[in-house]
Amino acid sequence: MQQDLNNLLKLQEIDYFLGELERSKEYLPDMMENLKRELAESQLKFETAMSDLEDSKLKQKNLELEVKTKEADLQKYQQQMMSIKTNKEYDALVAEIDMIKQSVSSMETDLIETIDSIATLETNIEEYKEKLSQTKDNNGKQLAILQEKIDTIGDKVSAKNGERNSVTTEISRQIFSVYDRVRKGKGGSAVVPVKSRACGACFKALTPKKAQEIRKAVKILTCDNCGRLLYWDADLSA
Ligand SMILES: [Zn+2]
Repeated sequence: MQQDLNNLLKLQEIDYFLGELERSKEYLPDMMENLKRELAESQLKFETAMSDLEDSKLKQKNLELEVKTKEADLQKYQQQMMSIKTNKEYDALVAEIDMIKQSVSSMETDLIETIDSIATLETNIEEYKEKLSQTKDNNGKQLAILQEKIDTIGDKVSAKNGERNSVTTEISRQIFSVYDRVRKGKGGSAVVPVKSRACGACFKALTPKKAQEIRKAVKILTCDNCGRLLYWDADLSA
């Protein structure tokens, strides 16, 4: 009886482990996907900022060139002012000069904003680069560990099934069939300790006689309510 109980608990542990291996076939690839996604996001953030920086630097260069060109125009028009003959020519030239000045002023504002955004991007890029390198390192290590786990599931399952077979042959047929039925029907633990003189799974109270029988471990009894196999645990049961 005690031997059956010990083997049942061993079997239950093996089945729990096998269940966990089965579940890991689902969640390990999910975990890997999350790590890969995180890495890709970090990479994208860095690359986007790098490309924005390149765009902003090009914009700065173009604006500087345009400002230079406009300033040369301005100089040219201002020299023409010296040789103006008529009021009409004068008005036209002043209007032209005003327009160029406005355009230069707006380009200069744009230029200041562009230079500011370059500085911000450069700071961000340092940060993103550091983060990316950490993520590559951390996630790379974790991915390798997870891949190794996935690759060894099959071997672990075979080993546990071997253990399961040898434990199962040690358990009496009748007890094993109760165990198997409850495990498949109810899920979770099929062998549970009595807790405070009640079933440890469904909490249905035991009669004093039944509690006594389980305590004496004459034979393995099941819960009237949920059918699980019950055993006495000195710390939990009384
Ligand atoms: Zn129960």
